[in-house]
Amino acid sequence: MSVMEISHRAPEIEFLLADTVERTRRLLGLGDDAEVLLLQGGGSLQFCLIPMNFAAAGDPVDYVDTGYWAQKSIREARALGRDVALAASSADQDYAYVPDAASIRPRPSARYCHLISNNTVEGTQFHQLPDTGVPLIADMSSDLMSAPFDPDSWAMAYAHTQKNIGIAGVTLVVLRRSWLDAIPDGLPAMLDYRTHSAHHSNFHTPPTFSVYVTWLMLDWLDREIGGLTAMGAINRQKAGTLYDYLDSTAFYQCPVQPASRSLMNVVFTLPSADLLAEFLAAADQAGLAGLAGHRSIGGCRASLFNGVTQESVDHLVGFLDAFAGQHQPGRPGLLSTQPDSPSQPVNA
Ligand code: PMP
Repeated sequence: MSVMEISHRAPEIEFLLADTVERTRRLLGLGDDAEVLLLQGGGSLQFCLIPMNFAAAGDPVDYVDTGYWAQKSIREARALGRDVALAASSADQDYAYVPDAASIRPRPSARYCHLISNNTVEGTQFHQLPDTGVPLIADMSSDLMSAPFDPDSWAMAYAHTQKNIGIAGVTLVVLRRSWLDAIPDGLPAMLDYRTHSAHHSNFHTPPTFSVYVTWLMLDWLDREIGGLTAMGAINRQKAGTLYDYLDSTAFYQCPVQPASRSLMNVVFTLPSADLLAEFLAAADQAGLAGLAGHRSIGGCRASLFNGVTQESVDHLVGFLDAFAGQHQPGRPGLLSTQPDSPSQPVNA
């Protein structure tokens, strides 16, 4: 029998869960004061669990508004009757940047300050963290395990695994153990972090196959890649290749302010809607899948998650340059090489 068939109470699965936590601890450099939980419900369920577990109705909770996913997190806290305030927002420029760390000022009474470390839709990322005195919580769904992690900066960090750490089904939650003591009684068991902590993430049937893939991915990150510093260098190089090319041409535009650019999601636009449609169709034909921007903002987005290789990025740049060369009168492609067939899709 495979991991998909055996009971979640079998020793093999108990081992799988414990070792996935252990691998997470090692890669993130977590100390004994950190708890690691493997949950279900994706990033979206965390948007509800955080206000439920760490604030009572009417309590102040502060959020940094950086766009699509930030707004979803804010909406849930409001729906639960928490007193939500914005510690900072980049709505004034259509979320083309993330607020400067120094400008993030949560209320001192706030139970926590929540931010999205990498804004998957807008293509922005925090490269500097605020130091506010209020416990920081980060949705790292699109950048946890893509670069080194500083455990001291966060009261809690969480990420669904489907981008950088495996496939859909698992959400990794890292939180300070002392925070578990502050959770109010009376929450439904499934929605109380203490339940999952007490049962070592095996309170109910866990998504065993997804955990297994994450377990493999964590091993790959550790032993084949060489840890998060090495992964971070690879990801910086991939994103640098693409941004450098985009900056070298007037054909493609990058709407995100340089200091806020995401290393994971590179967002760019073309000169017209017609060219955009033609570009996406040609990219698809060439085997470059998933380059359309998020449906809420359009344009293009190349997602460079951990599974995407430098070779794929080089291939994408070759394709971008060939397309620009064909559609800008009098301008040959900047690069001499033309793309051949891709080794893998650019979007993971
Ligand atoms: N947070 C971020 C930053 C995301 O990018 C996403 C989805 N892509 C979510 C939360 C929602 O995650 P899920 O679909 O796992 O609920």
